[in-house]
Amino acid sequence: MFMMEEATADRIRGCAVGAAIGDALGMPLEFGPRRPLDRLVRDMQPGRIPAGSFTDDTEMALALADSLLAHRPLDAEDLAQRFVAWLEAGPDDVGIHTYNVLSRIAAGERWEGAVHAVQQQRPDSAGNGSVMRCWPVALAHWDDLDPLLADSRLQSRVTHPHAECEAASAFVNATIYYLLRGAPTADAVAQAMELVDMPAPLRAVVEGAPARHRESLVNSGWVRHTVESAVWGLVAHETFEDAVMQVVNLGNDADTAGAVVGALAGAAYGLEAIPSRWRTALQGEWPLRSGVRWHMADLANLADRLAARRDKHGV
Ligand SMILES: [Mg+2]
Repeated sequence: MFMMEEATADRIRGCAVGAAIGDALGMPLEFGPRRPLDRLVRDMQPGRIPAGSFTDDTEMALALADSLLAHRPLDAEDLAQRFVAWLEAGPDDVGIHTYNVLSRIAAGERWEGAVHAVQQQRPDSAGNGSVMRCWPVALAHWDDLDPLLADSRLQSRVTHPHAECEAASAFVNATIYYLLRGAPTADAVAQAMELVDMPAPLRAVVEGAPARHRESLVNSGWVRHTVESAVWGLVAHETFEDAVMQVVNLGNDADTAGAVVGALAGAAYGLEAIPSRWRTALQGEWPLRSGVRWHMADLANLADRLAARRDKHGV
């Protein structure tokens, strides 16, 4: 294989497992109110699906991961077809904007035309549907920043071409890049902000996020709100458990913000720092309707395969 420090390998696995855990922990809290501080949900609970189950956020990330395992740099056409196959398998949940784009591609349009037509209907639409699934790009390009940034933006463009959606994906993955190298959380965010070209309103939200009070965080499906919650969770808390627990208990789009902060905090603290009660409860199915059950070890293994530098330094 290849030489990688054990701490880096643990952080890479932590990113993948952490994202799925944040998604699953937030699942029962989605669309709910912000929980009072003395009644925070601390364990996997059932919602519309069984306790510990990951949702569309992780499923779309797994489609992206499969695409990156087959093609590096990312092939947008291949990714679009994998998203369509997922949609046609009948997921329990799919974002409205994502559904509108993918159903046009499923009907025969090319992805560029489909996404353009949908975005034109609501030019200001900037949902969190691409930032929620972006983390596999950070693992596939963990040692190479230029393709990391380019593929982070490209995976967004396939469904979410708004400038803030693209920039949010590049920013989150750049932050993961620095966290994987052991940067303290605030430093990783600052370095990513310096690196990534971001629209001013998104940049202002990220800058202000660590100092926000939980009562002021909206945690909606707007990409700005998701990134704000995730950066607050990462920088204003000291452990994986606190970061993810605090963010999912904001309610509203809890699973998506949970997935983003889970990827970031998992990259910061590593797989071994994720509470075992969450790791053992994690479950899902991939590919959708294949009958293949996924657990923590499958996500950790996927992270290893994504990060393996088979295409250049591998021996
Ligand atoms: Mg979801």
